[in-house]
Amino acid sequence: MMNIEKIDRILRDTAYIRTGGSAQELACAKTLIGECEKLGLTAKLESFDVPMAVMHRARLTVDGQQIPCKGYLCAGSGDIEAELVYAPELTPCALSTCRGKIVLLDGYLGYWKYQDILSSGAAGFITYDGNANYADEDIDQRELRSYVSKGEKRLGVNINAKAAIELVRSGAQRARITLEQDEFMGQSHNVVCELPGETDEWIVLTAHYDSTSLSTGAYDNMSGCIGLLGVAEAMLNKPRRRGLRLIFCGSEERGLLGSKAYCAAHETELSNVALNVNLDMIGSIMGSFNAICTSEERLVHFIEYSASIQGFSLKARQDIYSSDSTPFADKGVPAVSFARNATANTATIHNSYDTLKVMSAARLAQDIDLISTFVETMTNARHFPVKRCMPDRMKDKLDVYLGRKRDKDA
Ligand SMILES: [Zn+2]
Repeated sequence: MMNIEKIDRILRDTAYIRTGGSAQELACAKTLIGECEKLGLTAKLESFDVPMAVMHRARLTVDGQQIPCKGYLCAGSGDIEAELVYAPELTPCALSTCRGKIVLLDGYLGYWKYQDILSSGAAGFITYDGNANYADEDIDQRELRSYVSKGEKRLGVNINAKAAIELVRSGAQRARITLEQDEFMGQSHNVVCELPGETDEWIVLTAHYDSTSLSTGAYDNMSGCIGLLGVAEAMLNKPRRRGLRLIFCGSEERGLLGSKAYCAAHETELSNVALNVNLDMIGSIMGSFNAICTSEERLVHFIEYSASIQGFSLKARQDIYSSDSTPFADKGVPAVSFARNATANTATIHNSYDTLKVMSAARLAQDIDLISTFVETMTNARHFPVKRCMPDRMKDKLDVYLGRKRDKDA
């Protein structure tokens, strides 16, 4: 079992904000390299390009009153004034009212939602996050992701949920958005560490180490990084038929950029990868343990049965998980993500509440133990039993998630 003091120490050492492409992210990468070296392993940085921006000015004025906001990074610069419309559903009916207007949206601005905004002819957009019931008035720093905009930029700002409610309640009429930013290409990094095996087949273990703009990312996802270190420690002096490759991924929170970059740069090697095991959010005090298999369905049952035999309660399902397992699965590599998912009233993520307070080092050690046992079994399988074929149902979900095909039911 992984040492509790060590878990606590790593959580404390990395308790800072580390967004993709930042100097803090790189500092954390170096800390992880140091942790690999303490195990007697070598780890190396692999860099990849990421779009960056420095915002000089972001302003939202509604009916003459300034509203606290953060401008969307990489959404261009300029100044627009237009009628404000609240369009929570984005049905064809709602979209028909958006032309030339600044649209206040509910929820996250994903690929398909942005395509709707573009085709509606909207002039700009406002999103909001946070929770109206919390004391804080935090605003997350959002970006218009390059694979979402594909170069078609509209000015947008993010505001706090309380401000959004007030805009709708008061029947706000006209909005003005001003953005001034410098956009450029920067670098983010994956940390790669190998424990070679007796064959040239590999099991790739992934966990992202970057965080979002308000979060020190203990739960999401230093917990998973500690998981990788724990599995490596458990497997150090054990026979390994297959090799283990740990990848601490950068810029996951910016759209799985690290795992996408890894899969693109190492595409030819992926045929030797038997399985991807991804850890994203484990070891929380509260919450249920899940195994999400982007693979043939039989792996779901194997994981459920073997956990049950060990007296470890978990739920497994066949699905995709919004994390670094997805780019691997998209290249045909069977993937499983392990996560302990807390309810939102006990531990939330992507905000300032994701801290050491929601974590249990003892629980994390237990979670890592279960994962290590699974990895050891898979590493030493005489014949690797998981078929290398992605079921059509998973291919469909990957197509929708990665913006290639629209969900018929959405
Ligand atoms: Zn995460």
